Amino acid sequence: MEEKQKKSNGKTILCVAVVLILLAAVAAILVPKLLNKEEQKDTYVVAIDAGHQAHANHDQEPVGPGADKMKDKVSSGTTGVSTGTPEYELNLIVALKLQKELESRGYTVIMVRTTNDVDISNAERAEMANNANADAFIRIHADGSEDSTVTGMMTICQTKKNKYNGKLYKKSRALADCVLNGMVDITGNPKSKVWETDTMSGINWAKVPTIIVEMGYMTNPEEDELMATEEYRDKLAKGMADGLDSFFKK
Ligand SMILES: [Zn+2]
Repeated sequence: MEEKQKKSNGKTILCVAVVLILLAAVAAILVPKLLNKEEQKDTYVVAIDAGHQAHANHDQEPVGPGADKMKDKVSSGTTGVSTGTPEYELNLIVALKLQKELESRGYTVIMVRTTNDVDISNAERAEMANNANADAFIRIHADGSEDSTVTGMMTICQTKKNKYNGKLYKKSRALADCVLNGMVDITGNPKSKVWETDTMSGINWAKVPTIIVEMGYMTNPEEDELMATEEYRDKLAKGMADGLDSFFKK
């Protein structure tokens, strides 16, 4: 009788031990996988807005949700001083290159526009990125200045005090830094900065991390001609994609 009890106790202990070992093994495999899934998604959604459109829309809209201050729905943009290229055309060409580059790297891309003949306000553009629940919203522009000697690229995001989406500041600022660095690295263009401002409707209406990319000055003859070349446009798009990779730590 005693002998039997001992044997059965031994069996129970063995069974419990085996179950525990199996549970530990399963946990060791599953837990890191679950943690990883939270940190890295299978695909990131990037919304791309090619700034402006063929015809400006000077109707007014609030600069942010519930704002009294109004701004043009879509302003005219600048023009290449040497090439005569309208900014909306350049923006779309680079936006389409960025779309191709990002899709080849596994991103899901939402395009605000794929033609120049549209009428979409800046607030509506931000709503499109919001509705897509984009992980990042990139608004592509080129700059203009009354001073034709001014050159260089910059990215723009909100300030941390932005009353509409200041809580997105940290992510947007990181996005602005990453994309700017990506473009500087690939083009070797040393003149650059991040500008923090709460004056941009398309940023204020956004509920996802958002930046404006100012690729260079179309009012500077050399930079205008540079941005008119296929090679430099490719570099700009690749640089932005590199920046997004580093933002998502891919
Ligand atoms: Zn612009």
